[in-house]
Amino acid sequence: MSSKTLLVIATGNAGKIRDFAGILGNERFEYKTLKDIGFEGDIEENADTFAGNAKIKAKAVADFLHEKKISAWVLADDSGLEVFALGGAPGVYSARYSGVHGNDLSNNELLLKNLENIEDRSARYYCALALLHSDFPEKEVQIFEGECRGRIGYEPVGTLGFGYDPLFIPDGFSTTFAQMEISEKKNLSHRGNAIRKLSI
Ligand code: IMP
Repeated sequence: MSSKTLLVIATGNAGKIRDFAGILGNERFEYKTLKDIGFEGDIEENADTFAGNAKIKAKAVADFLHEKKISAWVLADDSGLEVFALGGAPGVYSARYSGVHGNDLSNNELLLKNLENIEDRSARYYCALALLHSDFPEKEVQIFEGECRGRIGYEPVGTLGFGYDPLFIPDGFSTTFAQMEISEKKNLSHRGNAIRKLSI
């Protein structure tokens, strides 16, 4: 039997799972995805903050595991891009900015369009991580936050990463996140910064 701690990452996004495993390592944790645990429910992320949405996800998955008597930590993340000149948009709507969930291409196109003629391109990626144990799903969800500041470029550059990465240039760099290997991105990213704060 494995002595590793079971850690269910409440996402179906392979990019995020790689980020978590890349930082937390493979020594202590056995990672499972929602698919691995057979969670097929659709979680409605209807809070108006990242932390609120992360809590909803962590609680739904912890309840599911509790019912199945599976003991595990549940980690849910909600993250997105905030562009200051756009009043924080796309914000909690990052994944569905252009109306199509998960369509990175059209989201990026809309962002560039909305930033036409805007000089202040400063932005940040923000991440809220929610942590809850399935043995105690009624307990207060713990929240850990991280950010990464940068700016939005004028055209997509790079093929790595996901989401807005081809447009996001972190402070101190002239390359986008989509030009960086995971090993480099994880040292800078909002998710990396939140994961490093985790006490688990
Ligand atoms: P979530 O999956 O509900 O957290 O939605 C996050 C959305 O924000 C993603 O679909 C992306 O559009 C964007 N996003 C969050 N983190 C990143 C990142 O590290 N790179 C690129 N886009 C990101």
